[in-house]
Amino acid sequence: MSETIFSKIIRREIPANIVHEDDLCLAFNDISPQAPTHILIIPKKPIPRLSEASSEDHALLGHLLCMVQKVATEAGLTNGYRVVINNGNDGGQTVDHLHLHILGGRPMAWPPG
Ligand code: AMP
Repeated sequence: MSETIFSKIIRREIPANIVHEDDLCLAFNDISPQAPTHILIIPKKPIPRLSEASSEDHALLGHLLCMVQKVATEAGLTNGYRVVINNGNDGGQTVDHLHLHILGGRPMAWPPG
């Protein structure tokens, strides 16, 4: 896959406001927040998008969801939150490195745009 800005954040080549890190993933504040709290969780493994994850990534995907719970709790999102994965062009994905958006701090509308 081609290099993305998220690989540079993982390697600390560009700054980010990091709120969680472990062996498998990194979580940091979105640079253009769409809600009072907007955090991205990314795997350190550079999977381009959800549709390109493989069977060997099952445990990693589970870990990312578990870290959503941890990061959202630590961010104080006690009244709920939304988790979004944009996948591919029609999904509105702009960075080709799998990432989960955690959005909270205000009520979310449905359907999304
Ligand atoms: P998506 O449109 O689902 O691919 O989401 C990509 C997200 O990455 C957007 O919400 C951007 O605001 C965010 N983003 C892009 N560059 C950075 C950066 N350097 N630091 C933090 N978030 C970023």
